[in-house]
Amino acid sequence: MDFEFTSEQDNIRHAIREICADFPGEYWQDLDAKRAYPEEFVAVLTAGGWLAALIPEAYGGIGVGLTEASIMLEEINRSGCNSSACHAQMYIMGTLLRHGSEEQKRRFLPGIASGELRLQAFAVTEPNAGTDTTRIETRAERHGEEYIVNGQKIFISRVQHSDLMLLLARTAPYDENNRAGNLSAFIVDLREAGDRVKAEPLETMINHETNVVYLDDLHVPAENRIGEEGKGFRYILSGMNAERILIAAECVGDGHFFVDKATDYAKAREVFGRPIGQNQGVQFPIAAAYAQIEAAALMTYKAAARFDAGLRIGAEANMAKYLASEASWNAADVCMSTFGGYGMAVEYDIERKFRETRLYKIAPIANNLVLAFLGHNVLGMPRSY
Ligand SMILES: Cc1cc2nc3c(=O)[nH]c(=O)nc-3n(C[C@H](O)[C@H](O)[C@H](O)COP(=O)(O)OP(=O)(O)OC[C@H]3O[C@@H](n4cnc5c(N)ncnc54)[C@H](O)[C@@H]3O)c2cc1C
Repeated sequence: MDFEFTSEQDNIRHAIREICADFPGEYWQDLDAKRAYPEEFVAVLTAGGWLAALIPEAYGGIGVGLTEASIMLEEINRSGCNSSACHAQMYIMGTLLRHGSEEQKRRFLPGIASGELRLQAFAVTEPNAGTDTTRIETRAERHGEEYIVNGQKIFISRVQHSDLMLLLARTAPYDENNRAGNLSAFIVDLREAGDRVKAEPLETMINHETNVVYLDDLHVPAENRIGEEGKGFRYILSGMNAERILIAAECVGDGHFFVDKATDYAKAREVFGRPIGQNQGVQFPIAAAYAQIEAAALMTYKAAARFDAGLRIGAEANMAKYLASEASWNAADVCMSTFGGYGMAVEYDIERKFRETRLYKIAPIANNLVLAFLGHNVLGMPRSY
């Protein structure tokens, strides 16, 4: 067992840290106030090839592993920046890479790798289905060489910043005996969709560019279906484990951000004639938050290493996402308490990151459902659904 990062991995971390230094808190505060998209930040990451990390070199990417991609996202969040603006460009293409035809890969991946084509939107969630994806209602009906899609999605992020969207839709009625079947995955070309795809921004407590999406007689060529009809949910699930590990890495980054900020502040802020960090009531929660983040990081990188080695990762990916999102949320709360009233002042970035990291207890999957996965699939207890 070797728990050390390689020098190449350290170099990646340092390179990302340098990029992030050009995007300080004021940049993110300004975007947050305007609810605007970090165009410049995403452009720099794209130009450096970083968002093409997981695309093999044969398709124009840099072809590193999930471990390296995790390091990148961790470091972005640790620097006070926000990976969620662009992380999807890194991993949504995984479904296409693993299950698409060679022709589809040649058609889309080089453009995604160069940034010319943005695949940042992933349309699964629906108002009437919630976490039970097997109950989605959006229909894709086959007519000759195309599908006609009708339905509604919710919480679909970055649609306005994407050229392509990965869509999950129903291609046959719900079947109790084959709940994961009858759903298919498609690449939707948003540039050609016109008003057949309408995205209405949904106001949320974070700057996340998420939307209600209406699909109205949208024509999707059959050649844009990924893999076999009816297997889309399985294809998407295989990508969700990678997503969980990357999100866990973001949480580890957030957790370190909060611990770093709280530690510095606890050393510097003097009240009653001494640094507040000298009080164990302030110091111990920060130390405990640090220990929890480090433990979550171990599970996250174990899961990433297993993914890169081609091993089963369902349990580890879920545990990493759970542990890291709980640890980052605890660190956020501790940091907020350490800063006292100043934690709520926008200029310190604590309140913004506090709001941002809370998302990960809910999305891309709520932690209750992660525990249900562990309870059912790992520990063999009875299913609740
Ligand atoms: C900012 C943001 C961005 C998002 N971006 C995207 C995106 O780009 N694409 C996309 O497809 N989706 C996206 N989502 C959706 C996200 O994945 C879902 O919100 C999340 O999976 C939870 O689904 P839900 O909100 O429908 O909750 P529900 O399924 O309604 O669940 C509500 C609560 O009940 C609990 N619960 C439900 N069933 C059980 C059970 N059996 N046992 C115990 N507890 C249970 C859940 O844990 C949860 O806390 C986004 C969400 C947000 C907030």
